[in-house]
Amino acid sequence: MSEADVIVIGGGVTGAAVGLGLLEEGAERVVIFDEQLPSQRLSRGNFGLTWFMCKGANNPIYAQWCRMATKAWPAFAAQLMEETGYDIELEWTGGAVHAFGEEQFRQYAASVEAITRSCREVGLDYPVRMLNREEFAALIPEMPLGEEVSGAMYTAEQGHINPLLLLAALRSAFQKRGGTYKGAHSVSAISPKDDGSIAVATSRGTYHCKKLVVAAGHGSPRLLTPLGQKLPIYPQRGQLMVSERYQRVLKVPVLCTRQTPDGTFLIGLSTEDAALSSEVTIDAMKNQAANAIRLFPLLKKLNWTRSWGAIRVMTPDGAPIYTRLDRFENITVLALHSAVSLTPLHVKMIAPWILGTNEAPQISHFSNKRFNV
Ligand SMILES: Cc1cc2nc3c(=O)[nH]c(=O)nc-3n(C[C@H](O)[C@H](O)[C@H](O)COP(=O)(O)OP(=O)(O)OC[C@H]3O[C@@H](n4cnc5c(N)ncnc54)[C@H](O)[C@@H]3O)c2cc1C
Repeated sequence: MSEADVIVIGGGVTGAAVGLGLLEEGAERVVIFDEQLPSQRLSRGNFGLTWFMCKGANNPIYAQWCRMATKAWPAFAAQLMEETGYDIELEWTGGAVHAFGEEQFRQYAASVEAITRSCREVGLDYPVRMLNREEFAALIPEMPLGEEVSGAMYTAEQGHINPLLLLAALRSAFQKRGGTYKGAHSVSAISPKDDGSIAVATSRGTYHCKKLVVAAGHGSPRLLTPLGQKLPIYPQRGQLMVSERYQRVLKVPVLCTRQTPDGTFLIGLSTEDAALSSEVTIDAMKNQAANAIRLFPLLKKLNWTRSWGAIRVMTPDGAPIYTRLDRFENITVLALHSAVSLTPLHVKMIAPWILGTNEAPQISHFSNKRFNV
């Protein structure tokens, strides 16, 4: 098929979610092109948290958006299971961010108060509270805390999933609903036509569509620059480490440490400006291992078997970019961090906005125009 109603460039978690949403919303002939380079492992190599906590500290609309997404997760995971048979291992056990020492505890408490206040201004609840050391220890009784841990911020209303299964489930749901997923198709150029249609040149031929969605992560700027569109994203590397399996002792994920249902631990919260290299480094792994052991000394006993790096797509204010191109209204660009957490909204709210069937009031807030580009 070289004609499509909607083409999505990028079959990561954002493109796959939006592709699914477009079909749910009634679009026909939706095609996803995905380059599938081995270095592009962002949607497979992330930490798998479905969180709202800490997001949108100075941006209540973003805080609200994250909260809405998180609330939608349990029903969304159930829908994916029903449609595809994939259990994406959603555990809805809450989540915590630990504090070392009294000063950090006070800072976290102040930030929880500040976000709670700013959420209240837009009529939004922010069900996050501080736990002192004893309360935090009681939450995860089988996981003794390091001596320096003073407590944690905590919410019962978030969770974690398996990123590989999420991506597989989204692509499967997309195809089961009639979408066409074309892996190993690299898009080289986007050419808008006078009649509003768009020609999309790929490594395997040229396709035409009425609407185009660019969700190609770090691949997006090179496609948009020739159209005169700047996309102010920058790369930030994160590294993760995985342990051997161990009995299930950590049932509530902590920002930098979680244990999966099969017993492996994942640690990692490194943030490095490292251009587009997804290599792992001994320094970053040493740092995060030391940090994780300060939190949970038990981790010292485990063998750590694998590690990898992946490159976050960051925007200047940390919030997503959902934008239509000024000169080409039929082209929408999506570029963001936290796309796992936001997946249910990409299906249920971003897709209808792209088709023009419904526009959630928050979406205009995430236009690229806020960066004066
Ligand atoms: C270490 C780490 C931990 C993270 N943890 C979390 C977390 O716990 N929770 C959370 O919500 N988020 C997390 N993230 C962020 C999350 O992984 C990303 O927001 C998400 O994967 C972005 O998905 P995407 O589909 O937008 O981009 P990508 O995954 O980069 O997908 C873009 C796709 O576009 C394709 N592409 C690029 N150029 C072209 C082209 N020219 N033609 C065709 N295809 C093309 C690529 O092949 C790729 O598949 C984490 C990120 C990192 C690095």
